[in-house]
Amino acid sequence: RKRIVSGVQPTGSVHLGNYLGAIKNWITLQNTYETLFFIVDLHAITLPYEPKQLSEATRSTAAIYLACGVDTSKSSVFVQSHVRAHAELMWLLSAVTPIGWLNKMIQFKEKSRKAGDENVGAGLLTYPVLMASDILLYQSDFVPVGADQKQHMELTRELAERVNYLYGGRKWKKMGGRGGSIFKVPEPLIPPAGARVMSLTDGLSKMSKSDPSDQSRINLLDPKDVIKNKIKRCKTDSLPGLEFDNPDRPECNNLLSVYQLVTGKSKEEVARECHDMNWGTFKSLLTDALINHLHPIQVRYEEIMSDSAYLDDVLLDGATKAADIADATLNNVYQAMGFLRR
Ligand code: ATP
Ligand code: MG
Repeated sequence: RKRIVSGVQPTGSVHLGNYLGAIKNWITLQNTYETLFFIVDLHAITLPYEPKQLSEATRSTAAIYLACGVDTSKSSVFVQSHVRAHAELMWLLSAVTPIGWLNKMIQFKEKSRKAGDENVGAGLLTYPVLMASDILLYQSDFVPVGADQKQHMELTRELAERVNYLYGGRKWKKMGGRGGSIFKVPEPLIPPAGARVMSLTDGLSKMSKSDPSDQSRINLLDPKDVIKNKIKRCKTDSLPGLEFDNPDRPECNNLLSVYQLVTGKSKEEVARECHDMNWGTFKSLLTDALINHLHPIQVRYEEIMSDSAYLDDVLLDGATKAADIADATLNNVYQAMGFLRR
């Protein structure tokens, strides 16, 4: 079976963008593929953070995966830092990653600009190398992510090819390695809709955990009245009717897409339904649709969070399974790169 990996950073509360761009799709993929879903805590320290909140957000994010429908009889769920191989492989890959590749990354440019120089550690620059390790360790075939991760996925693919070229092939066979390549070259799976959910306060920037304004996003755990309030206050425009794909109406396109995805209706159906609608009518429809979609997830979340032993078991089991696969790859890389075996 083909293998899939994906993860979310425990940097804040999981929002609709993370859900529609990534997590929601994991639920269908786990029926067909071998799936590993992790909480990428090592990534979450690349900008200033509160240590106490890191562990809380890590547990909470794991519980959200399960509440959204990740099924532990089909998928392994684990915490990235519980599998040592991620950090270890990152070092090996760092040594062969051209700095020029990292300097070109849009996420680095954006996040470092917002954070200010004194808050930018080397980890923010080398973030994509850790992400490549997360993926390549598992010889993954596909990685379901939002559109913002496309560039990091391209770097991952190039890095896999570079390592295969530098250390794989005949050279590796001479070292006693089996198979032609060290890493499988993975492909991103970017959904046709929901890949880039936009901020509620600015239809031109993506919804993000790290946006300082909570008004800019719908968190999966937002209570009903908060959802209602955020939709009531979100940015709209003053043109008549509602439509998809008008570049002058990014907020309109975004909110219609969200409505489409949480109701499960087709784009055509939503376009027809909302064509002559005013914002007031649409906002109350959207609010109800969001509340109806998120309510069952919130109920399951509370159940899971109330049984901490269960969550610990899931994460331990997931890390054990993941480490088996990851260690095998890591050992191959050490061998191929010529390290003395112990
Ligand atoms: P941060 O601001 O801390 O980077 P984030 O909101 O970007 O947080 P991540 O943990 O970096 O979330 O990303 C987790 C997953 O969610 C990735 O697959 C990413 O592509 C996806 N994702 C993030 N934001 C959006 C969005 N607005 N629309 C669709 N997918 C998104
Ligand atoms: Mg992000």
